[in-house]
Amino acid sequence: MADIINLLPDNIANQIAAGEVIQRPASAVKELLENAVDAGATEIQLIIRDAGKELVQVIDNGSGMSDTDARMCFERHATSKIKSIDDLFQIRTMGFRGEALASIAAVSQVELKSRRTSDELGTFIEIDNSLIRRQEPCQAPVGTSIAMKNLFFNVPARRNFLKSNAAEMRHIVDEFIRVALAFPHLQFSLNSNGQQMFHFEKGSLKQRIVSILGQHYNSKLVTVKESTDYMNIHGFVGKPETAKKTRGDQFFFVNNRFIKSSYLNHAVMNAFAETIPPDSFPLYVLFIDLDPAHVDINVHPTKQEIKFDDERILYAFVQSAIKHALAQFSVTPALDFDLDPGIQQLDALTQPFTEEKKAQSAGTSIYKTFTSANQAHIIDKSNNSNLQHWKELYGPPPARENDFPLPPPPSHSDFPPVSTASVIDERWQEAAHDQKGPVQVHQQYILSQIKSGFILVDQRSAHERILYERYLRALAEKPIATQQSLFPQTLELLPADAIIVHEMLPDLQALGYDLEPFGQHTFVVRGTPADIQTGNEQASIEGLLEQFKHFSHELKHNRRERLVRSMARNNAIPSGKPLSTREMQNIIDELFACSMPNVSPGGRGTFISFKLNDLEKMFDRGF
Ligand code: ADP
Ligand code: MG
Repeated sequence: MADIINLLPDNIANQIAAGEVIQRPASAVKELLENAVDAGATEIQLIIRDAGKELVQVIDNGSGMSDTDARMCFERHATSKIKSIDDLFQIRTMGFRGEALASIAAVSQVELKSRRTSDELGTFIEIDNSLIRRQEPCQAPVGTSIAMKNLFFNVPARRNFLKSNAAEMRHIVDEFIRVALAFPHLQFSLNSNGQQMFHFEKGSLKQRIVSILGQHYNSKLVTVKESTDYMNIHGFVGKPETAKKTRGDQFFFVNNRFIKSSYLNHAVMNAFAETIPPDSFPLYVLFIDLDPAHVDINVHPTKQEIKFDDERILYAFVQSAIKHALAQFSVTPALDFDLDPGIQQLDALTQPFTEEKKAQSAGTSIYKTFTSANQAHIIDKSNNSNLQHWKELYGPPPARENDFPLPPPPSHSDFPPVSTASVIDERWQEAAHDQKGPVQVHQQYILSQIKSGFILVDQRSAHERILYERYLRALAEKPIATQQSLFPQTLELLPADAIIVHEMLPDLQALGYDLEPFGQHTFVVRGTPADIQTGNEQASIEGLLEQFKHFSHELKHNRRERLVRSMARNNAIPSGKPLSTREMQNIIDELFACSMPNVSPGGRGTFISFKLNDLEKMFDRGF
């Protein structure tokens, strides 16, 4: 029998490997920007056409490349950044795997122009499908320009997987902003389809944050800065009052590399606990610097996930640093620490760090390298005076009745006929008429007597169902009335969120939101659906966005469906909300006028019925 194993040709091997590094235009954006930073550029331009599907180009004024390097850089495992495996543990550059350009060249058509200061002429290269088509000398400014064209032109299956332009653009903007935040001393610009979307001048981190995330943060940032022998942290957190209902303003950088870490995020959230309402997210832009030997960045091809020597120490450090910062700025009182006891008992956190110990442990255990002078976890507790005041400021407001005015019960003409084939049996319709005022139980359930027994309605799920059907009708037939705001508010959004809102404007209009674009990432909120409390416009839209993003993983739903579900979930009366008798009655009436009253849009039950017969039997059985 013949042998059956063959070696894959280079271009196919590269295409396969590229799958890990280049998933979408935004992946190329990240790699090309990082290369420009690594090349020592001070001015970096990103040019996009057709959400990166047609063109992603990065122009930098960095070191440039020689003729040979310009050819070499597209080879797999070609890198100038490491030479041996030991170098891996001292990485200070963003790249090191030598895969990015090889991957890009395998799945697109690339044009490179580059010149070093020492060379009179630059070099021009054209590549597609991993093959060099042309190389020749050319005039060029110092630095490098790499253009990636027609991504996945040779892998149609993957091209088909790309999302809408708005979605791909959102990813691009996210990557661009992460790099721009990490290097505020460099100038960045982003041009999309011929229009300048961003231009950031060189400046301080604070200036960069404010120019990206919004002017309103200018006086709302608290400095975080702690140094120890083991690691440093610096950056900013937003004051608690700036916490939003929507995620997106949270950034962690480890040795200047943006990372996603729910663990470290938790540490920050913990430090903020009680200063912000539940389900809201404070801004943070935090840079942790530590010896690269303690971090493994090579666990993931895109390097967004990394591994630390000891995560617990990092957690304690981050949490302490934030608490310290908040306390110093009198944003919160110095709080008693409620660190995980396991962490609290670590020697590094409890015992003074003497010279003797330092000598003993030098270079061994990382815990012990905390210096005592700068221990972030030791906070002066004398500063406790504003405890009461602070609780009042940020605690939940005292509940009032009728905070959530419900619209009047539906008149018959507004509603399609109730489906009789569904689970609704007549008893539920009786419920509306057999009025023995409903009772609220634990501010969460509504107990209502009906002829054959009683029902227990989950107020939140029920209201979600009601709103869901109301919003669907609004989109299909009759738009919801808008309640004009007396004082239109401006809503400054993250660029990526602004794209979502732009996309949804017509639907939002039908659902009662009157929003008007005002500059690139800003909208003026002129009105909200009539049943949203005034004063809550901003929170309502932010909450909506957060829900929408949450649902964006559920591919089975289209965008409208997701919007309607998000709005219903976001605007539903929460558990824990006291309700008046009239409000409860309205909920019951409207629930049973729904076409599917028994479940919430997400599939949760909305009520349970208890029948007299069954109750009888339960008592007979002795319980
Ligand atoms: P890595 O960044 O991991 O080394 P890449 O494939 O991204 O791998 O790049 C390969 C090499 O090409 C880099 O190590 C660098 O020497 C060179 N290079 C890439 N982009 C640039 C640029 N913009 N300016 C100068 N040199 C570059
Ligand atoms: Mg690189």
